[in-house]
Parts: sequence; structure tokens; C-alpha cells
Amino acid sequence: MRIGHGYDAHRIEPGKKMTLGGVKISSDFGLKAHSDGDVLIHALADAILGASGLRDIGFYFPDTSDETLNMDSSEILKSAAEMAEKRGLKISFADCTVIAQRPKLSSYIDDMRASLAEILGVERDRINVKATTEEKMGFTGRCEGISAHAVVLLEE
Ligand code: MG
Repeated sequence: MRIGHGYDAHRIEPGKKMTLGGVKISSDFGLKAHSDGDVLIHALADAILGASGLRDIGFYFPDTSDETLNMDSSEILKSAAEMAEKRGLKISFADCTVIAQRPKLSSYIDDMRASLAEILGVERDRINVKATTEEKMGFTGRCEGISAHAVVLLEE
């Protein structure tokens, strides 16, 4: 069994579309990024790479490359899972937490789980997604950005 942790944060960008866990979220702001800014997917992909003993997603998908401009982050997640698989590792369980003051994410949780499970090609009960606020403290609390953590177990 291998364990990996991933963390990511993105700044809010008014007027941009928001995608979290591959799911379109209704919001008057999105997340500023070179890719689509899917902070949840970035944290989960980094956790998978971490448990595989690999480098971070910035190493494999640099934000200076034209290839990753406006990239659909589900491609990043698929690649991370493929890199793990090549090393004989498969996803046993992932637990993710999105930290956002706004928008309210509770009605999207099931869709995000289903979406992440589909991208990874695993059963839905192997992926968990939670959401929390930081009680108006810090950059997420001031609605300057959204962050996400992910912990994953990979089976050999
Ligand atoms: Mg990111």
C-alpha cells in the first residue's frame, strides 16, 4: 500500500467558468489558471503522483507550455492514473477536501464523486469528496481563492 497527499490553490477570477472535479459549478467567478483551474483535480492528481513516487503535476504539465493552455484537467488526472498504473499501482481509495467560502458545494458532492470515479475508471465508492469553509479566515475565507487537499491510497 502506498499513500500520497496533494494540495493546490487557485486565485478567483470574476466571470470565468468554474469546474471542480470535472463538474461545471454555477458561480459568478471561476479560478485563474493556465489550465481550466480545476483545483480539486490538481490536488488529486498530485496525490496520485506522490503515492507513485513521482514529481508534481507542474513538472509533467508545466504552466508555461502552450500544450497545457486551457487544458481540460481531466486529461491531467487520467495521465497521473496511467503513470501510476505503469508502475503496477491502482487506486484503492481517495479522500478529497475542497476549501471554499463560496459557492456552496454540498449539492455538487455526488456529481464530483461520480465524475472523478469515471475519469479514473474506478467504482464511485473508492472516491470521496468533502467541502468546508475556513470560517471567513485567510484567503479562502476572504473569497480570494479556493484550495483543495487530497489523500490517496494506491494498491500494488
Ligand atoms: Mg493547479
